[in-house]
Amino acid sequence: MSNRDTRLAISAAPSAVGGAAALLVVFSLLGRRVFGLRPGPALAGGALATALHFVSELWHQSGHARAAAQTGYPMSGVRLWGVLGTSLYPPDEPELPSEVHARRALGGPRASAWFAAVGGLVALATRPIGGIAHMVSSLFALENLLVFSAGALVPLPFMETDGTTLRRHRQPRRQHTVVVQE
Ligand SMILES: [Zn+2]
Repeated sequence: MSNRDTRLAISAAPSAVGGAAALLVVFSLLGRRVFGLRPGPALAGGALATALHFVSELWHQSGHARAAAQTGYPMSGVRLWGVLGTSLYPPDEPELPSEVHARRALGGPRASAWFAAVGGLVALATRPIGGIAHMVSSLFALENLLVFSAGALVPLPFMETDGTTLRRHRQPRRQHTVVVQE
């Protein structure tokens, strides 16, 4: 088995740098305004939350990759852009059954749901302490819920999400209509 079969080629578009900078600003501001931290800790928390955002993105993609490997049609890589990432598949893939597309699309949100649950527990546990730990775990849990698991399942009109893929490849509903043949 070659590396090409087992390893994901991870690359980043230049826009990912801007995405990281934007996240750092937004998360640090949330640390200051919502979590009531002083500027230094808010910035430290913002940096940590930004790093964990990309860990969460790659974890989400690894969920897609595991599901894809199980279908026999593996992912080839991940392209990071802005604040998100896109799963890459070999360009020479044959026409695949809807079930394969659906299983691959579900793998990411399923993996992220675990991160959301673990992050949520840590956020609850650190609530009495507050500080950076509570700020970062809360943002981590919310991101994994609202962006990478439940959020990813929502089809959006302006970009391809896992929800878009699932809607396109939805299994045909079992027909309950009785067809009377003449
Ligand atoms: Zn996904």
